[in-house]
Amino acid sequence: MTIFKRIIDKEIPVKILYEDELCLAFPDISPQAPTHVLVIPKKEIVNVGAALAEDQALLGHLLLVTQKVAAQLGLANGYRVVMNCGPDGGQSVDHLHIHLLGGRQMKWPPG
Ligand code: 5GP
Repeated sequence: MTIFKRIIDKEIPVKILYEDELCLAFPDISPQAPTHVLVIPKKEIVNVGAALAEDQALLGHLLLVTQKVAAQLGLANGYRVVMNCGPDGGQSVDHLHIHLLGGRQMKWPPG
């Protein structure tokens, strides 16, 4: 079981910024920008590489929730949306998640 599953099950408390029947948004414990939020599905999907055709609507929903949380947090000047996938992608928690980063100028390319 991943740490995110324990957060979904409310075993580990987090500041919930958004929640519905499909997903949850909460601040990253180790923020890499003034705003750093994680948006995760309640369904256990390892990463975007493991998503199925049946997850299509869920994946779209996660992006629209990310957009909603960004607006809620006042990121009117833009933000970055990141999904790390697998070892080369730098993924450390094996439960699909979107990083929403904002509040500073992002650089490109990422490290
Ligand atoms: P990844 O490296 O897999 O793309 O991102 C995992 C993210 O989860 C990291 O940014 C890390 O800081 C965050 N994280 C890991 N454990 C916890 C936790 O217990 N609570 C919260 N809020 N974030 C966590």
